[in-house]
Amino acid sequence: MTETTERPAEERTYEAVIGLEFHVHLATKTKMFCGCRVTYGDEPNTHTCPVCLGHPGALPVINERALELGATAGLALNCTVNERSVFARKNYFYPDLPKGYQISQYDEPICTGGYIEVPVGEGTERVGITRLHLEEDAAKNVHVGESGRMHGSTASLIDFNRGGTPLMEIVTEPDITSPEAARATANALKEVLRAVGVSEADMEKGQLRCDANVSIRNPDGSFGTKTELKNMNSFRFVERGLARELERQREILASGGRVEQATMHYDPERDEVYPLRSKEEAHDYRYFPEPDLLPALHPPEWVEGLRQRMPELPEDRRRRFESEYGLSAYDARVLASDRPLAEFYEAVAKEADPKQAANWTSGDLRALLNDSGTPVEESKVTPERLAGIIALVGDGTVSRSAAKTVLAEVFRTGEEPRAVVEREGLAQTDSDELSGILDGVIAQNPEEAERVRGGEKKVLGFLVGQAMKATRGKADGGRVREILLEKLGS
Ligand code: ADP
Ligand code: ZN
Ligand code: MG
Repeated sequence: MTETTERPAEERTYEAVIGLEFHVHLATKTKMFCGCRVTYGDEPNTHTCPVCLGHPGALPVINERALELGATAGLALNCTVNERSVFARKNYFYPDLPKGYQISQYDEPICTGGYIEVPVGEGTERVGITRLHLEEDAAKNVHVGESGRMHGSTASLIDFNRGGTPLMEIVTEPDITSPEAARATANALKEVLRAVGVSEADMEKGQLRCDANVSIRNPDGSFGTKTELKNMNSFRFVERGLARELERQREILASGGRVEQATMHYDPERDEVYPLRSKEEAHDYRYFPEPDLLPALHPPEWVEGLRQRMPELPEDRRRRFESEYGLSAYDARVLASDRPLAEFYEAVAKEADPKQAANWTSGDLRALLNDSGTPVEESKVTPERLAGIIALVGDGTVSRSAAKTVLAEVFRTGEEPRAVVEREGLAQTDSDELSGILDGVIAQNPEEAERVRGGEKKVLGFLVGQAMKATRGKADGGRVREILLEKLGS
């Protein structure tokens, strides 16, 4: 961090300093230290065993797949994967933690010292990753009653299905300078984790949670006292909660007060932040190495193997799409951000002009997918069929507007494009036929035709419109315009 020279108070810039902490469920089949399956939405307490229920004497075994996924996430985030990591006991008492401690990593995490590139405007900004470590999730408290929260509930139940789910904590450096950039960082992280298959990162399933630490930089450039916004389950709320908390801190500082270190809660409904607990109640977790587990070893060959099996990252793919297919920065970003969409696009681009393929995939097709909530993998418009539609436009069989109709029909029915063209009679009118139709349009609209001859170009649009009606949209608008101009000699 660079030092800034001290400024008079009235020139204070109130610069925001933000660091994020993420908790991410790893996409393993089984839990972190036992063989119980990881599931979502199953009947409560149906995936438990003595290990994840914390029975005395039950012994944990490290899930090797979790180590692989953690290291892969670290590589995707440009971290060093350390040669060994050590699990430790983090002691605290809470009903959702039956052992009385959580097995986590403390002073020897699996990964350290990386960064993530965050798209900002046209460019990218780098946010440092301090560390990435592995742990187990706690069980889930379910509060019975109308409020859905502990306060005002009639009973609290515990679902141990979630207890022991492999969890990865990722901590960023305090490099983020605005609530918008915090949201962009969270989005970029989610994209990277999904791209390399480390986690589905579905926030609605609680697979990704985010805490935000925030402060205002002191006038002398040093860090101010931070507060922490806990457990936000939507990136929109991360952004809004941070904006609200920054406003609160700025008001305190502007009126000569001091920010107290605290854990805050953001209530999106009231757009308000309020303190959950202050520093005095801070935990002392009395960490010590987990005596039932040996250190995990991550030799360089193992790390290298993971690196080689790692799928392409969205940022790399975006750059490749620009150079390999000549796409605009916008199209490249839209198509590269989502792996299934990117794979679909590349399959189309193999058989059709890459730019046309990009236009149709990122435009018309994506609109149909979004409107109907269909994942691209389930689209009845396969890459082959979309390439087929593009070819029908390319060889003049159908106009662009008719092609949209074909696309919508193929999307609905899964027919072959050519079959739709025939069934719907969408083939483009051929030149002789079109010429005849246009002669008719001129004959039926003599006044307008005369005005176009006289140089009133804006009237041409009306004649084009009439011609499109007469051909029922099967003619290409540009061609109609051209031929009309020729016929009217202007
Ligand atoms: P703690 O000891 O309170 O857990 P850490 O140093 O471990 O604090 O940092 C936790 C998170 O807070 C990290 O994401 C870090 O980037 C961020 N952070 C640290 N200091 C500040 C600060 N002054 N303002 C905002 N965020 C900060
Ligand atoms: Zn278990
Ligand atoms: Mg910390």
